[in-house]
Amino acid sequence: MIASFNELLAAGEGRDLAQVLLDADAEESGFTQQQILDALAKRREVMWECVRRGKLNAGLSMGKLVGGEALTMAAAFDAGKTFLDPLTVKTMIYSLAVMDENSRMGVIVAAPTAGAGGVVPGMLLALEEERNVAPEKTIRGLVVAGGVGSLVSLKANISGAAGGCQNEVGVATAMGAAAIAYMKGGTTRECVQAGALALKNVLGLVCDPVGGLVEVPCVKRNSFYAVHGLTAAQLALAGVQSIIPMDEIIDAMVRIGRALPRGLKETAEGGLAMTPTGCAIAERIKGEANDRRQAAADERERVAAERKAERGEGKD
Ligand code: SF4
Repeated sequence: MIASFNELLAAGEGRDLAQVLLDADAEESGFTQQQILDALAKRREVMWECVRRGKLNAGLSMGKLVGGEALTMAAAFDAGKTFLDPLTVKTMIYSLAVMDENSRMGVIVAAPTAGAGGVVPGMLLALEEERNVAPEKTIRGLVVAGGVGSLVSLKANISGAAGGCQNEVGVATAMGAAAIAYMKGGTTRECVQAGALALKNVLGLVCDPVGGLVEVPCVKRNSFYAVHGLTAAQLALAGVQSIIPMDEIIDAMVRIGRALPRGLKETAEGGLAMTPTGCAIAERIKGEANDRRQAAADERERVAAERKAERGEGKD
């Protein structure tokens, strides 16, 4: 069993990183390598379907705070109104598309969580399309992304409630960065470096969802950190190194997560959630939930009265 990035570096020296991770996963899980690849091929399909749906849909989220961001970006791109290169813009559009779908309760792949589910598909699918990467390579990229996420999860709880958004979107960006480095032909060392550069530059990111919903800042945050992951992969592939090793960065993330106050760990009692606008939105959401509850209770009462009347009960 590979239990740390240090061990992964040793096992992966001079070898294909996805193959090292596949060997280890097959041995531990009991699944064949083909079964693992088939399962990831299915995940890739779901990711693509989600992106295709999401970038065409202007529908609002459950809390009505977001919706249509991917469509807006895609329209700007199609009209030639974006100034960044197509790979970067598509990375933003695709990560937004997944998160828009997530906020509308659509089917997505949690990678590693639903709140951070836009980063990995945004990065990998944009690269696949923009640079004509074979689907099989993307699937092996997902092996790398999954391997990185699994290794982090041996030491850290992957949830905003445990350690802030660094543990969710931060880990997603490390997974995506390592996968992109792999898909671009990086060595094991370069892939791990990409993950390390991505993760260490997201440390301290708090979890402060407005109204307690995975909408603000979550949806747009995914597009920001997908691009951050591309930066990390590019730096690593160019030979730039993280001075702090990945295992130590994870330890630091865990310590920072413990030090964060409760209000910045998914409780919606701090940060953006406690701004005047955030509080007003939370009040509105609470009021609407109460109205829905009341309407449901009224309806139950009406149906009960109707049935009683049908049975002739309540008459003198
Ligand atoms: S802010 Fe919190 S809920 Fe939103 S993506 Fe980050 S960790 Fe998840």
